[in-house]
Amino acid sequence: MKNIAILCSGGDVSGMNPAIKHFVEYSIKKGLTPFFVYNGYEGLIDNKIMQANYEDVAGIINKGGTKIFSSRSKRFMQKEYRAQAKANLDKHNIDMLVVLGGDGSFRGMEVFYKEHGIKFCGIPSTIDNDIAGTSYCLGVDTALNVIRNAIDSIRDTASSFGRAFVIETMGRECGYLALVSALTSGAELCLIPEVPYRLQNYENNFQKQIQNGRRYFIAVIAEGIADESQKIAQWFEEKIGIESRISILGHIQRGGNPTVYDRLMAYKFVSHAIDALLNNQTNSVVCFNEDGFSYKSIDEVAKRKYRLDNTLLKSLKEMQDV
Ligand code: ADP
Repeated sequence: MKNIAILCSGGDVSGMNPAIKHFVEYSIKKGLTPFFVYNGYEGLIDNKIMQANYEDVAGIINKGGTKIFSSRSKRFMQKEYRAQAKANLDKHNIDMLVVLGGDGSFRGMEVFYKEHGIKFCGIPSTIDNDIAGTSYCLGVDTALNVIRNAIDSIRDTASSFGRAFVIETMGRECGYLALVSALTSGAELCLIPEVPYRLQNYENNFQKQIQNGRRYFIAVIAEGIADESQKIAQWFEEKIGIESRISILGHIQRGGNPTVYDRLMAYKFVSHAIDALLNNQTNSVVCFNEDGFSYKSIDEVAKRKYRLDNTLLKSLKEMQDV
């Protein structure tokens, strides 16, 4: 009987629970004994490791967040605590880990693997969609749908009351969430860190639109340029002549029931991760791109900078060509 464990590390995303459920079911199907590591790398160090069974994952497929919790761990950066983590895994006879996390978590696991030989397979999980080597990270679709709902609601009040809304999405230095949301919610303006902008360029066009009867504007701003929100709102008032409000969507984007797509991706990511470990792949990340699933090394995933898809960037340019 071989033992395998799953853990969540770094920012949580919606889709982790369906992944945890499939992890238990698929492991048992493959003749493995599944374990949970609670609370990420902190739980590895503190021996919060427990055998899991079907009843532990009943009723979680529709829930956001993660039943087994997540954390960031300063201690895991230190060799002595990683040795403690290894000793804890030995107590449970575990030498395979499925890790749901971001590139930081994968870098940590790589160090752990090189020191102690614990095999792992990473599943890219972040709503920011900013991991190099994969075009999709678990949780992104749910976050996009949360943003869509929020913008739909904001549009109701914006159109009734005749205002410009500057809506700030998450995404750290990556404009993916803002860009896709702007395209799919019909925003008039989208500003992201990857593309330099000059508000001045939009003035004539927006003023003309107001003269032609436009009553409201939706501007979607990525977190990476959140410092500019105030300035943009002010610009709408002073240069375009429309009252404005700022709406910061914040952490609602990380929660909510996982969408069908995230449930399906969770299922597929987990099957691929377990298959990789059973095929003796020692330290890889499951990636998803146009040509399907593949396994990549940590170097390919965590040591390169993510770049926004060119066709998306082109669409942004078309959307706001003035
Ligand atoms: P994310 O996985 O979302 O990118 P972080 O960058 O915060 O999140 O990384 C998650 C955790 O991974 C950190 O809290 C730390 O415990 C661990 N980690 C990251 N880099 C290293 C490293 N070089 N060595 C050991 N542990 C690391």
